[in-house]
Amino acid sequence: AETWDSVPLAPPDSIFKLTAAYKEDTFPQKINLGVGAYRDDDNKPWVLPVVKKVTDMLLHDPALEHEYLPITGLPEFTAAAARLMFGADSPALAEGRVTSVQTISGTGANHLGALFLSKFYGWYEGKEVYLSDPTWVNHFAIFRNVGVEPRTYPYYDANTIGLAFSAFIETLQTAPPRSVFLLHACAHNPTGVDPTREQWSQIADVILAKGHYTFFDCAYQGFASGDLEGDAWAVREFVRRNVPMLVCQSFAKNAGLYGERVGALHVVAPSASAATRVKTQLSVLQRSEISNPPAHGARLMALILNNPELFEEWKRDIRTMAGRIIAMRQELHGLLTDKYKTPGNWDHIVNQIGMFSFTGIRAEQSQALTEKAHIYLTTNGRISMAGLNSHNIEYFAESLDKVVR
Ligand code: PLP
Repeated sequence: AETWDSVPLAPPDSIFKLTAAYKEDTFPQKINLGVGAYRDDDNKPWVLPVVKKVTDMLLHDPALEHEYLPITGLPEFTAAAARLMFGADSPALAEGRVTSVQTISGTGANHLGALFLSKFYGWYEGKEVYLSDPTWVNHFAIFRNVGVEPRTYPYYDANTIGLAFSAFIETLQTAPPRSVFLLHACAHNPTGVDPTREQWSQIADVILAKGHYTFFDCAYQGFASGDLEGDAWAVREFVRRNVPMLVCQSFAKNAGLYGERVGALHVVAPSASAATRVKTQLSVLQRSEISNPPAHGARLMALILNNPELFEEWKRDIRTMAGRIIAMRQELHGLLTDKYKTPGNWDHIVNQIGMFSFTGIRAEQSQALTEKAHIYLTTNGRISMAGLNSHNIEYFAESLDKVVR
């Protein structure tokens, strides 16, 4: 037999399958709501003006070379990324308790964080991680790949199209002590449902009481609300309360640097000496995985984060993106409630946050949207608000109204 005859054919990634079907569709009013990247009002990818500017600066920098970065990344980038996440005045940073390593975007940060825990965390029973139900599907494979078995905690309540808060708290309380819980720092993917600040505080209470470990995934800082500080609130509150934790940070969405793979893993340790020990091991792991992280995107972000003027320009670009998404939420809500008087309550459309929204429609309704109206979305009813714009939102609202009636 041939060497690879026994390799089973893997199923295609569902989002990529959706995109392929959308591309083949010749219907003029077709809409792709599966896309996980920002689109402007003309449904085009958007290069942030500040990113254009720093790209130009780099290109014309006579000192630019292509040597390896240090194993743990470009120091000007990782230090600035940490200040962005934890706040420039963070006591944990001042005390040298945060170890930061540059990673292959948010996915790489999740992987390195999971790998580090699998090797060095003081596991109480088996190696397990609690993921929200539902979560970004990649979380399952990322943890399984390093021998950590995913479990789930209740998160989304289909009846209220909101947070299953008490069931979530109950799982935190009943999980074995020192369990690892993965929490989305803001703009939960795929639901768009985040805990309130009061709820975050209660989550922290239980995590502290049980000695759990928090694995924060922060892929949408600034992109969620338009405010970099506000979107980091939960992370900073957990640091303030000394919750043991790490944070995965991505610049894919908030800087539109998807393909450049810019990210960081930050481990908040109880002391500077523990942070140093962690850093040496992360460095060893990183060496065997990628040797040295990629330079270009980190240089772009270092320029933006370390120059006050460019930083202000970036914040303005972030507000442009978040503002358009929020405007689409409001317009869709208005069309459904005022214009079409669509049955049901649609307040969740404006209460949810970030690029994604769980509409609450059933699988057969989302299938009908695709088959009858050429609107492409995952069958769980998740829509990417970035796929909506002033040209197609009427058609979408009208089509959604038809399938739920
Ligand atoms: N984590 C979550 C929750 C995400 O939604 C994403 C992207 O969709 C990522 C991590 C990682 O993205 P990237 O590797 O492009 O930074």
